[in-house]
Amino acid sequence: MDDRSKMRIAAARAAYGLEGQVAVVTGATSGIGRESALAMGIAGVRVVVNHRPGGEDKAQEVCAEIEAAGGTAMPGCADVSDEKQVDAMFERAVGKFGAVHILLANAGLQRGARFEEMTLADWRMVIDVNLTGQFLCARAAVRHFLARGMQPEISPALGKIIHMSSVHQGIPWAFEVNYAASKGGVMLLMKSLAQEFGDRRIRVNAIAPGAIKTPINTDAWQTDEARAELLKLIPYGRVGETIDIAQTALWLASDLSDYVHGETIFVDGGMMLYPAFRGGG
Ligand code: NAP
Repeated sequence: MDDRSKMRIAAARAAYGLEGQVAVVTGATSGIGRESALAMGIAGVRVVVNHRPGGEDKAQEVCAEIEAAGGTAMPGCADVSDEKQVDAMFERAVGKFGAVHILLANAGLQRGARFEEMTLADWRMVIDVNLTGQFLCARAAVRHFLARGMQPEISPALGKIIHMSSVHQGIPWAFEVNYAASKGGVMLLMKSLAQEFGDRRIRVNAIAPGAIKTPINTDAWQTDEARAELLKLIPYGRVGETIDIAQTALWLASDLSDYVHGETIFVDGGMMLYPAFRGGG
């Protein structure tokens, strides 16, 4: 995160009102999750920096950066597709910080292939991490929220869940059908949870990023030619940065968005505007 963004978030810390709340951020060692964990840490959230087994060093680096900015963080080891590891991570988080208030279910990956060549292993891996992983983390969060009960001095919500979706929850994606299917699933997971738990004041939303510069999609933006092709899909004329998503996550996590429930916020520079029709179709 650049210094200007850090200063902006630090300056807005009081407005976000997140100080003392606890967030589990999955896939927090890279890209969008890393930036969101940093943003939350700078805003005063105590952050559980989730990483896969073996990713401890990268998680420690994120924790150190949060602590250098005056925040509090701990690494949280769990493969999000593993039920026992997810439940154990939540137990450790509650053991250390006393409660969890926010889940940013962000961990995700792509394993694209021509459909006729896509292996069952590729299909399962993407569904397991992107969809089942979000189910397992949301379930652990909901169980904790219900067991803990309201803390009105902390938040008007019993808890807040933010699912990381994608524009591909709506835009079909040839050669990435496992990914598109997983994100379509995330959309209805989010909406169904919002419907089921709204009256218990668990606030559930999703963010649907467009094209954001991270390691997941380097091929799409690293060369001039690739970037020019990509920009044809983005009416706003620039590729997204991780801070664009982190700032949205911060707002959705905060009680500034207390009446936003069951929504997908598209953060995509207008990618959903059917840019191919810009010239009249
Ligand atoms: P990224 O830089 O590759 O980060 C993905 C993160 O997920 C990494 O920290 C990765 O850990 C972690 N992860 C993968 N499998 C995991 C597992 N089984 N358990 C725990 N963590 C796991 O990609 P990103 O672009 O930031 O993606 C984050 C989310 O945004 C994903 O859900 C993605 O679908 C969504 N998204 C991204 C874009 C985009 O343009 N970048 C657009 C739409 C949606 P390792 O580093 O150890 O692999």
